[in-house]
Amino acid sequence: MANSSYSPVTQDVIEALKNIVGAGNVITNDEKIESYSHDETEAAVYGHNPDVVVTPLNTEQVAAVVKLANEKHIPITPRGAGSGLSGGAIPEYGGIVLSIEKMNKFLELDRANMVAVAEAGVVTNDLATLVQNEGLFFAGYPMSLQTCMIGGNIAENAGGGKAVKYGVTGRYILGIELVTPLGDIVQLGGKLVKDVTGYDLKSLIIGSEGTLGIVTKAIIKLIGYPTARADILALFKTPKEAIDLVPVILSKGIAPTSIEIMDQLSVITTCKYLNESLPYENCGAMLLIEIDGTSAPQIEMDLVEAGKLCEANGATEVYVTEDKNNIERIWNVRRNIAEAFKVYSPIQSLEDIVVPISRIPEIIPELERMGEKYGIKIPCYGHAGDGNLHATLVKDPDMSMEQWKKNEVECLEELYKVTGDLGGKISGEHGIGLKRRKYLKDIIDPVELGLMRAVKRAWDPNNIMNPGKIFA
Ligand SMILES: Cc1cc2nc3c(=O)[nH]c(=O)nc-3n(C[C@H](O)[C@H](O)[C@H](O)COP(=O)(O)OP(=O)(O)OC[C@H]3O[C@@H](n4cnc5c(N)ncnc54)[C@H](O)[C@@H]3O)c2cc1C
Repeated sequence: MANSSYSPVTQDVIEALKNIVGAGNVITNDEKIESYSHDETEAAVYGHNPDVVVTPLNTEQVAAVVKLANEKHIPITPRGAGSGLSGGAIPEYGGIVLSIEKMNKFLELDRANMVAVAEAGVVTNDLATLVQNEGLFFAGYPMSLQTCMIGGNIAENAGGGKAVKYGVTGRYILGIELVTPLGDIVQLGGKLVKDVTGYDLKSLIIGSEGTLGIVTKAIIKLIGYPTARADILALFKTPKEAIDLVPVILSKGIAPTSIEIMDQLSVITTCKYLNESLPYENCGAMLLIEIDGTSAPQIEMDLVEAGKLCEANGATEVYVTEDKNNIERIWNVRRNIAEAFKVYSPIQSLEDIVVPISRIPEIIPELERMGEKYGIKIPCYGHAGDGNLHATLVKDPDMSMEQWKKNEVECLEELYKVTGDLGGKISGEHGIGLKRRKYLKDIIDPVELGLMRAVKRAWDPNNIMNPGKIFA
């Protein structure tokens, strides 16, 4: 889908890029470039090669590359680890991919202010481990933390398994160093707990999917590491019974770290994929409830209360575990569901709908109904405690491609419509990117969409920064 209004990347441009970042940080080799042509969305459907990849070493180099892109009118796509699930890092119009991968220095641990300062290319798990070794906690990370990078987390405002208690990435970002789409370097926010000094532009960048500039550094809020933890695994006959319990638990004042749901199809497929044998494979659905904190007695009290609620609300069995190995085995199943379904059928659409907590119980019967109507498997798993479900449309290997293409589109449109009718939105954490952009107009107010477009025009008048993302 080339856009002829952009200029080509000529040999002169390549030379200019080499002058800015050094020849060793410019990739033009076809084979190497291919790995920057896709993220974790289906490469065959969404992938597109860039003309050139640059891997700058510092903020000044990033700014100089962006200035060059403006001058020459060449599109530029920021990239972290490429673990995104909405096609955000795909250079749809070719041009330059600016990968932040070499800006991976941990810069400062400031205990007095309880913050860490890191370059945007630091792998999230490296940051989490480093601060954990100091007894501190970065709580706003996604479940892909072993691969993704802090800059990518900020750009997507990533959430994760712990969002019910701790919230998402944005809650922990106090400051951002940004290279604007015009190539200026600006510091937004700072080591401040409170800051209402003018518009909150830092928050505008969080979740802007690389369309409003390139994050080069972040100031990250830390909290004390929760030293105690226990997990409940509750089994239910049906997903509906499992999910009905979520609002009950949350309304009782218990603050679980997470409440995850896995339906039977998800558990069986993933256990097979991992060669794991949870003894609970044959229940209709399971809830995985994590409770953590610094006070063991408090956790004990919450555990007992949550366990009683499970039993009183239809759980057929309730297991409490404080054994780290068992906890890890169960969470490993949860973390690997998406990968397992890719092996079962690589043709699928991993969705990310989010509904208000009180409407969670209503979505499950709708998914079952749509699955039957369109002959599509829709395993249901995800962050039940915050209303964010990864209902995934998976092609049955026996269905013809032609039939799948028709049914997938119709099913997706119906899914989004039902989600909207329940007061929900089409993405809770993976973003719009290019995968969902054509549906944005159907789910948000036209005035809101107009304001979003006006923001984009004001920040990026030449439309060179990650063009084609979010907006159709
Ligand atoms: C197995 C698996 C599990 C996942 N689990 C979760 C989960 O629990 N929660 C969740 O929210 N997501 C999850 N994701 C999705 C993904 O990991 C997150 O969106 C993550 O934040 C992306 O980070 P990244 O570094 O890979 O970014 P990329 O994929 O490289 O880029 C994502 C977007 O951010 C932009 N971007 C990247 N770096 C920068 C930067 N420095 N400045 C400006 N823009 C930038 C890109 O242009 C793109 O639009 C999962 C993905 C996988 C494959």
